[in-house]
Amino acid sequence: MSKIAIDIDNTICNTSEFFGPIAENYDRNILHKNNVINYDKVVPRSDDWTKEELSYFIENYFNKESINIPIKEDAVTYINKLKELGYEIVFITNRGIKEDDHTDLIVSEYLEKNNIPYDNIITKSNDKYKYLCGCDYFIDDAIHNCEDAVNNTNTKVIMMETNKTKDYNNDKIFKASNWEDIYDYIRRSWFKWQYI
Ligand SMILES: [Mg+2]
Repeated sequence: MSKIAIDIDNTICNTSEFFGPIAENYDRNILHKNNVINYDKVVPRSDDWTKEELSYFIENYFNKESINIPIKEDAVTYINKLKELGYEIVFITNRGIKEDDHTDLIVSEYLEKNNIPYDNIITKSNDKYKYLCGCDYFIDDAIHNCEDAVNNTNTKVIMMETNKTKDYNNDKIFKASNWEDIYDYIRRSWFKWQYI
């Protein structure tokens, strides 16, 4: 069976957009500081928070609120359509890799809550390309994950565009601005194989 590996944060849901205001609120109203929030992080935070302040944020906000990250509505529609085409859907995320981060434990609940079909979930995966054996496609928003995959595997790589990657271009990586683009790209190759 053909297989698609899909990242979670900022690929199927708006993680950074959701946690930005939460980080600001924590910084201003709980820590009573006025730090700059670094929006380049998947989970926005201040680079000036102490280790303890960051741990408190991860435990009390990231772990508790991750279940409420808004899903991208078109991800629900098109991942279901990809499943209907017969693809096996595998989610691959580095959630849970840091000591305080327990959001790996709610991934299945989160996917079910949002009506996203899946066959397998791989968490705590820092080097995602190592898990792509047998995958036809890999979809992720992070440049390093996409480049690692394109340089080390035969899997076709699709980058979900974000503000950070607007100007990024790589001939070997298909860049998509939404899930309809991704579906069309995969479906085109699917038809090609069916009717060869
Ligand atoms: Mg991501």
